[in-house]
Amino acid sequence: MSKKVLVTGITGQDGSNMVDYLLENTDHLVYGMARRSSNVNLSNCDTFIDNDRFQLVYGDITDSSSINNLVQEIQPDYFINFAANSFVGCSWEMPEHVMDTNALGTLRCLEAVRRFQPKCRFYSAGSSEEMGDVDYSPQDKAHPPKPRSPYGVSKVASRFLVKVYRESYDLFAVHGILFNHEGLRRGEEFVTRKISKNVARIKKAISKNEKFEPLQLGNVNSLRDWSDSEDFMSGVWLMLNQEEPNEYILSSNETHSIREFVDLAFKCAGINGKWVGEGMDEIFLTQEIDMGGAETRVLAQINKAFYRPADVNLLYGDSTPIREELNWKPAISFENLVERMVKNDLKQNE
Ligand code: GDP
Repeated sequence: MSKKVLVTGITGQDGSNMVDYLLENTDHLVYGMARRSSNVNLSNCDTFIDNDRFQLVYGDITDSSSINNLVQEIQPDYFINFAANSFVGCSWEMPEHVMDTNALGTLRCLEAVRRFQPKCRFYSAGSSEEMGDVDYSPQDKAHPPKPRSPYGVSKVASRFLVKVYRESYDLFAVHGILFNHEGLRRGEEFVTRKISKNVARIKKAISKNEKFEPLQLGNVNSLRDWSDSEDFMSGVWLMLNQEEPNEYILSSNETHSIREFVDLAFKCAGINGKWVGEGMDEIFLTQEIDMGGAETRVLAQINKAFYRPADVNLLYGDSTPIREELNWKPAISFENLVERMVKNDLKQNE
């Protein structure tokens, strides 16, 4: 008999990818929770909104009565919580909202499961931002939590709430630690999508012989362990279907700088450039463009406005345990990811 899966955050990248994954790889019924607003943005939901095994339900992770009602009514076998305020940069601007949504949000889900459906398997979306100011590389599960942002703190709080509920009430509740994961549905405030969108904009301007504004970036020294979100969904599902509720890291086991991402993204659009200068004066430029003269063109530059009050400078995960113990394997490399994102934005700009 098919089971019932409640997924929150379905208008976002991970929630929508999870629904796609479940509809393609299981025969379960999927209930996808979105927030009711005057203008619900379902642009990430095109692939499943009309699927017979999918049902859109309304609720809000900041409203316990709505979460309680959904769990009571649906009686899910799995509850996957991807509802979150997921942008680290904004967590200094609205720290209370981030703690309410991400940390208390997890607590509301756990309480609903404990009270109304304790046999339900619960997934909480953890983040490499919990590692923060890292002590060593690559980071494994034993790395201490050293968050550097209100967002990081909210995810650490979730991790420990899940642990406490699992141990206190014998729930099958897991908090997977997912390193950066991007893709075609990534929000524009994240650096990867910002780069791919701007590369497409600049490529279009160049091909029409028009002037363009350079891409503006903050800390390009930052190193991240980037994967494709679509690859992570099978890892989350494996974590939920083990015998014991073990927690795992999902990562690419590689690290790359923002600078490298920029370089590769422009290359994918057929534009070669190089980084020159230092600090705030560092620029990424190309001499290959003939726009009525052999001028050097600035493709990207540093803008202080995009620096954070505190940054996580290096993230580099070790996902060996889930690869060895649950046989999880990602299919999309860093190079494929950059290419997919840039090609997708170039196509949208045609
Ligand atoms: P995060 O790892 O979840 O914070 O993902 P982001 O994509 O938001 O940021 C990744 C890294 O890119 C961070 O170290 C940022 O400081 C750095 N970065 C540099 N320039 C930018 C920018 O213009 N926007 C964003 N979002 N991040 C930037």
